[in-house]
Amino acid sequence: MIELHAVSKRYRMGETEFLALDSVDLTIGRNEYVALLGPSGSGKSTLMNLLGCLDSPTSGRYLLNGRDVSTMNDDELARVRNREIGFVFQSFHLLPRMSVLDNVAQPLVYRGIGRSERERLAQQSLERVGLGDKLRHRPNQLSGGQRQRVAVARALVGRPSLLLADEPTGNLDSRTSEEIMALFDELHRDGQTVVLVTHEPDIAAYCHRSVRVNDGRIAHDSARETA
Ligand code: ADP
Ligand code: ADP
Repeated sequence: MIELHAVSKRYRMGETEFLALDSVDLTIGRNEYVALLGPSGSGKSTLMNLLGCLDSPTSGRYLLNGRDVSTMNDDELARVRNREIGFVFQSFHLLPRMSVLDNVAQPLVYRGIGRSERERLAQQSLERVGLGDKLRHRPNQLSGGQRQRVAVARALVGRPSLLLADEPTGNLDSRTSEEIMALFDELHRDGQTVVLVTHEPDIAAYCHRSVRVNDGRIAHDSARETA
């Protein structure tokens, strides 16, 4: 489902250049549950941004569901993001003036789906994360764990093939983190492909595969261990 072939990402800052990813090869299959680990500055966010089609590699090829997305322009990438990818962030990124239902329905606006159908799908998605009774609440009326559930519902509302989560438990206490990880676990068991970035080994332990990034390279991949 995900194939990276010799993917490099170089950032240019004035005169200097920085190689944030150095010829990365990575294959992730459908319904895998993967943790990306590594120290700060190792390239995890850069890798997530590429996987999520928020940015393009400087060189190398990225195939997502068989399509080469590495040569797409910004409009094409935006379309692939909207159709194929659900994002969850550390800081939730919910719109404070909108109801929970409208937050979750938002990604469907860009697909030209009518209002009542958007609301039906958003309600379904909120029920899936256990928040069917909070549709009319504002995000600031919810706990951190509930807000992250709203963000997960929003990520899933368009039925993305890939769910990407960047430090999804970074702002949550340990008990709430466990609840969110239990939710990801359930989604994975339902067939969802999940890739999450974390620097916490406890969180990575929930995943079925861990990929460690160091200095822009894959330093360790548990899928490559010989049994
Ligand atoms: P991580 O997520 O593992 O902390 P990042 O992918 O954010 O690592 O960053 C990897 C390296 O690339 C860091 O040295 C960072 O400073 C650099 N970097 C990331 N994004 C940019 C950017 N937009 N411009 C320049 N350098 C960047
Ligand atoms: P996170 O804490 O989620 O890993 P970062 O703080 O590493 O996020 O980066 C936040 C954003 O800033 C990212 O989009 C990253 O690409 C960008 N960034 C990181 N380092 C630099 C840098 N040195 N110069 C410019 N942008 C950067």
